[in-house]
Amino acid sequence: MTARIAWSYPRDMLRLLCPLLLLAPAAFALQDTALQGTAPQDAEGFPGDLTVSAEVGADELRGHVQALASDAMQGRAMGSEGSHATARYLAARLAAAGFEPGAGEGSFLQRIPLQRVTYSGVPELQVKGKGLDEVLYNGESFTFTSRGAVPGEPRSFKVQVVREESDVPAEASAGLALVMTTSAMKSRRWLSDAGHGRGEGFGMIVLPRKAKARERSTPQGSSLGPVSSSGAAAVQLSLRGEWSERFSSGEVEEITLDAKASVEEGEDFNVVGFLKGAGSEDSPELADEIVVLSAHRDHIGVSSRIQRGDPEADAIMNGADDDASGCAAVMEVAEALAAGDRPVRSVVAIFDTGEERGFVGSSYWVAHPTHSIDQVVCALNFEMLGRPDPLVGGPGNVWLTGDDRSDLGPELRKRGLAIKADLRPAMSFFTRSDNVPFAKAGIVAQTLSTYGEHADYHQPSDEWETLDYEHMQTAVRVCLDVARALADGPWRPTWNEGEPRL
Ligand SMILES: [Zn+2]
Repeated sequence: MTARIAWSYPRDMLRLLCPLLLLAPAAFALQDTALQGTAPQDAEGFPGDLTVSAEVGADELRGHVQALASDAMQGRAMGSEGSHATARYLAARLAAAGFEPGAGEGSFLQRIPLQRVTYSGVPELQVKGKGLDEVLYNGESFTFTSRGAVPGEPRSFKVQVVREESDVPAEASAGLALVMTTSAMKSRRWLSDAGHGRGEGFGMIVLPRKAKARERSTPQGSSLGPVSSSGAAAVQLSLRGEWSERFSSGEVEEITLDAKASVEEGEDFNVVGFLKGAGSEDSPELADEIVVLSAHRDHIGVSSRIQRGDPEADAIMNGADDDASGCAAVMEVAEALAAGDRPVRSVVAIFDTGEERGFVGSSYWVAHPTHSIDQVVCALNFEMLGRPDPLVGGPGNVWLTGDDRSDLGPELRKRGLAIKADLRPAMSFFTRSDNVPFAKAGIVAQTLSTYGEHADYHQPSDEWETLDYEHMQTAVRVCLDVARALADGPWRPTWNEGEPRL
């Protein structure tokens, strides 16, 4: 049975719209008001055919993958225009499927603040002490080794030499630079509190090193990253040459860092949709329980390494299998769940960003859940389902990461679902996708995949044409059965004794 929505646009619209919109970022700004679960009035920015089918079909899967992995999306790097475009596409699709906006305030988009640091010159460090007032230069006398935040304006720090762990101040404080002549472990925690955790400003650790002095240099700018990842250093300097000894001896009492950096703000989004469960006659409260379905919509952008080698070469990392295929799977499962009998439990669909940058979006959702995280009975993640894996029997066969860690796989098999175990434990797939932040929060969280270690992984050749959509249709129909088995309850999976080991 096919339900056709009145506002459907020809799929060709996508090919026409996307390149134009990418050339005009202003016209392409996310207009969140249009993504509030009602049909938008005009087609701009809502590419593709918005027909919704209750069946999981090869054509629909191909359509999603083609939309997400086209060259116009420029490899969907976190925070990029291409990534924003896929957020619009998926939000429009979720609305068409009948999911409610899941990110609060009537929106499908959960905003994640990002930032990019750009250096305009050689960072300078003014050092002062008794009879000492000199300026040192990056590369020559010190180097930034931190990938954390950098102050945009010159900042002064009192210098304190740490000779043993007990010298590390109990309280985090901004404006203090610790010269670590002993283990840096405790200082990192201190630094993270001072610089990031409480937002009080910048702490600094200074690491005396035996490195030789080198030429002055301007650090490379960074790509867009998360604003504050706990545990990251705020500012960390490694000393070079004679300054190692001079800092360690206590000669330097105060420093002022002029990083010559500008900090540019960016953003990306988790696309979040919600389908309210119906509960069951015996247990209406099951409607409050949640099954999370997730896939990452970001990929790794355009390869500057390939561009440097050959400006003519295709450098767009399309990420058709990784993980446009998982997004297509979640979307088709979501459409089928919304079109069929309402599931007993509620379903939250999350198309997150920044998986490729260390689970940024999924970590953000776990830290800022849009729904009651205590009610999540299972988080099912979808990764790379576009090609058959010969090791588990080829086309249509799906495997589960961490199959031996919980009773999820065994219980599904008891229900007649042919879910295979992950036969490559040495590849650590269980700890390599967005299930990890959920598992860390104690939720049974595993990933469904059909990845067979193909050669196009993280290459420009991971194009939509290379996927096997017949295989995918069979595999995603199995995934739909898995989602239904979880959403209809009342059974809930549990970790095995001692799991999850992460
Ligand atoms: Zn992936």
